[in-house]
Amino acid sequence: MKKLENPAAEVHSSYFAVVNEEECVECGTCEERCHMDAITMDGSAIINLDRCIGCGVCIPDCATEAIELVAKDAAGKYVPPRFIYQAYLKMAKERGKL
Ligand code: SF4
Ligand code: SF4
Repeated sequence: MKKLENPAAEVHSSYFAVVNEEECVECGTCEERCHMDAITMDGSAIINLDRCIGCGVCIPDCATEAIELVAKDAAGKYVPPRFIYQAYLKMAKERGKL
């Protein structure tokens, strides 16, 4: 997943990370924690939304609580199938197997 240009387009997630630039002290902790290389430092932590999969791994160790997950709007939200067989059917359709 990390090797993709735009992992956010491949992951079903209803969230993305947002930084409060005024609270960020550019410590770099979130950049180290992000396993998608979605964060860089440029005056504050900057999130590349093409790479952010909304996992929240960057959140807990921010000493100033400057970074948080925000829910996508209705169009971007993902509602998972209720039953597992529906999930498999959906995946098969998305992969062109059905
Ligand atoms: S961990 Fe928090 S304070 Fe440190 S760079 Fe990231 S957002 Fe900024
Ligand atoms: S939510 Fe996950 S992918 Fe997005 S910036 Fe934080 S650690 Fe990286």
